[in-house]
Amino acid sequence: MFKECFVPTCTNNNINWPSKIFVYVPRDEKRRKSWFEKARVEKKLTKTSSIYCCEDHFDLQEDSENWFYYKTIGSNLILKKDAVPHRNMEARVGHLQSPDQVSQLTSSERKRKSEILTSLSSIKKYKKTIIQDT
Ligand SMILES: [Zn+2]
Repeated sequence: MFKECFVPTCTNNNINWPSKIFVYVPRDEKRRKSWFEKARVEKKLTKTSSIYCCEDHFDLQEDSENWFYYKTIGSNLILKKDAVPHRNMEARVGHLQSPDQVSQLTSSERKRKSEILTSLSSIKKYKKTIIQDT
């Protein structure tokens, strides 16, 4: 079934992002209204149709009731009752970034990044040492 994100500034659908999670926009009129407002959807409220919102607008780990079960045993994802889409609601945001843009770090940022990576790997080594010592 074709699913596309209801957020106007978002172009995600389950054809270009088969692995993305799409959640139902609630059927409850009040909740649907607040979702529509949040996403600045001008369309008239339709009570019955199935509308989806992609995971990019949520912090699903925080915004869902059963993230752990969803991830582990694949049960249906249940959003918290007060969850509304709140991330990436503006045009051209994070998830549309191409890998090229990501790699465009300034030279000082690049240096910082390699420092962080180096310290991370030394922490790992350190942990390993402790484990081996015991
Ligand atoms: Zn979306």
